[in-house]
Amino acid sequence: MLVTLLGTGTSSGVPQIGCTCAVCRSVDFRDKRLRSSIHIEIDGRSFVVDTGPDFRQQVLRMDLLQLDAVLYTHEHKDHTAGLDEVRAFNFRSGRDMPIYGRPSVLTQLTQEFAYIFAEKKYPGIPRVQVNPVQNQPFDIQSIRVIPIEVMHHKLPVYG
Ligand SMILES: [Zn+2]
Ligand SMILES: [Zn+2]
Repeated sequence: MLVTLLGTGTSSGVPQIGCTCAVCRSVDFRDKRLRSSIHIEIDGRSFVVDTGPDFRQQVLRMDLLQLDAVLYTHEHKDHTAGLDEVRAFNFRSGRDMPIYGRPSVLTQLTQEFAYIFAEKKYPGIPRVQVNPVQNQPFDIQSIRVIPIEVMHHKLPVYG
């Protein structure tokens, strides 16, 4: 299994817009941090955990050509805003993108990306296949995934 950290930044990324602190003004490449996401490559499968606002940039940077599923930790926008970009993988594969998350996360996605889930869809939008996850192990294409519920302040999320 190969895990690539696509982003390790805060919700606003580093540097943060308008911030003049030493870290945000630093020229050290380690102070350029995109929003949190990881890519997992295992047995020829390709998964990402979360699709934040930097998802397109992260995918282009690692030249990712194959994506078999998206797993969501939680519904905050810095982890979900890039969902629209999965349509590029729809175009390549001709398949709907399986997405996995807590029921509350999936509900939030249907509200924030209403056009994706609309009865009448306009052409070119992302196509997803929704998979609610309970707090127990599950398989994606024979790969075992074990969600670990942790608290994100007062919000239960999955690690
Ligand atoms: Zn700063
Ligand atoms: Zn969060």
